[in-house]
Amino acid sequence: MVSHTLKPTAPQLWEAALGRLQVQITRPTFDTWLRDTTALSMSDSQLVIGVPTTFAAEWLELRLYQLIDAAVASVSHQRLEISFQVRGATSAIPVEASSPLLTPPEAAPMRQVPASPSPSPLNRRYTFDSFVVDATNQLAYAACHAVADRPGDTYNPLFIYSGAGLGKTHLLHAIAHEVRAHERTALYITAEEFTNDFIAAIQDRKTTAFRDRYQAPDVLLVDDIQFISGKERTQEGFFHTFNALHNANRQIVLASDRDPSALALLEDRLRSRFEWGLVADIQAPSRELRHAILQRRATETQVPIPQDALTTLSELPLTNIRQVEGILNRVGALAHFTGLPVTTHLVQQVLHQYQTPTVNSKPSAETIIAVVAEAHGLTPKILASTRRDRQTADARHTAMFLLSEILQLPTEEIGHLFGNRDRTTAIYSIRKIKDRITNNPAKATELNKLKQALLQSKL
Ligand code: ADP
Ligand code: MG
Repeated sequence: MVSHTLKPTAPQLWEAALGRLQVQITRPTFDTWLRDTTALSMSDSQLVIGVPTTFAAEWLELRLYQLIDAAVASVSHQRLEISFQVRGATSAIPVEASSPLLTPPEAAPMRQVPASPSPSPLNRRYTFDSFVVDATNQLAYAACHAVADRPGDTYNPLFIYSGAGLGKTHLLHAIAHEVRAHERTALYITAEEFTNDFIAAIQDRKTTAFRDRYQAPDVLLVDDIQFISGKERTQEGFFHTFNALHNANRQIVLASDRDPSALALLEDRLRSRFEWGLVADIQAPSRELRHAILQRRATETQVPIPQDALTTLSELPLTNIRQVEGILNRVGALAHFTGLPVTTHLVQQVLHQYQTPTVNSKPSAETIIAVVAEAHGLTPKILASTRRDRQTADARHTAMFLLSEILQLPTEEIGHLFGNRDRTTAIYSIRKIKDRITNNPAKATELNKLKQALLQSKL
């Protein structure tokens, strides 16, 4: 079946491996840890997989390596050494042997934050030219273009917001490319990197270097700014950075998953500054936009797809362009590995396997419990049992806490999910984890990452 004459590309091979893995592991695990991965590069002996976070890299390395290794071997018919790299990072992330999740939280070492991290490299594909415009993203696109042409001169700050996968990061990178092409400086950074850098600067007493770094560029682009919500010290640091840049007429561009007024736990003085310039949103993509993006991606990735199949794909009610592109990749991979031409029939076959995910929805209670249980080497059944050893209790408390955090389930219901425990048990457990977070930054980070991973899972 597999054509041996044509060497598959890394994305084709990985999509095929994902197809195998999908039927071997539970859906929550697949959706949480694998759905959002991509192949970054491949050589004769190595396959590099891109993952969204360091946490996901650690997880895959420690928990799923053997399965992944076997799946890749069976589709590629060769032995490839697999490594996981956070997308946007320059070199493979060394996976720490002691993931905070896999050791008792008290014993978990604090992650060392590098003193001056290199800013995220830009994706060369994310340019204004490759961004497809229609009425749903016209305002954001035009504003970004204006800012790239005349930094500091038009809308300052420019605040872009939208749901996941609608092109915010793409536009921020496009601005940075454009600015640099005109001999000016642009610094692109995620709010998480900014936070780490800020904390490290304070710890190492290098705040002058920090200030110089962030106040030097003509354009500062901060992605996923919602991350600083609830982080008071970072907000303080960002407030000063913002003011210094703004006073010097340097351009600030922010991207967020929600509008400033919906950023709970953001200091008012920052919120009002975020609204000083222009706030532009990107709306869910129209069918025409999905069609145009698919058309372009099919050409770029050389998937020979007929018009009717393209139309079928563009009619899917997906509101996340990343998913739209993912399905196209999968179609291309399937065609490649089966040697079949891309037809509407083949597309339908892929859609059948894919089970169109509900977009932007939260994970189910079952997913949260399954993922937390697995993180502690346990099963949902054990969490619901009467077992009270420390490992089980810790996992149960964590799951209860996340159910309350992510789904805001009432405590009665949470208790009920764990073998009909009563609400006071749930209240006690949630409080216990809250205390832990306050007293133990490593635990707070661990939980936050687990929460992000769950929110990214497309269930
Ligand atoms: P966000 O940062 O909003 O979550 P991204 O910028 O990461 O989204 O976009 C997700 C993917 O969708 C990227 O591959 C990006 O290139 C693509 N994409 C999103 N919107 C568009 C568009 N209008 N035209 C072309 N590609 C797009
Ligand atoms: Mg983004």
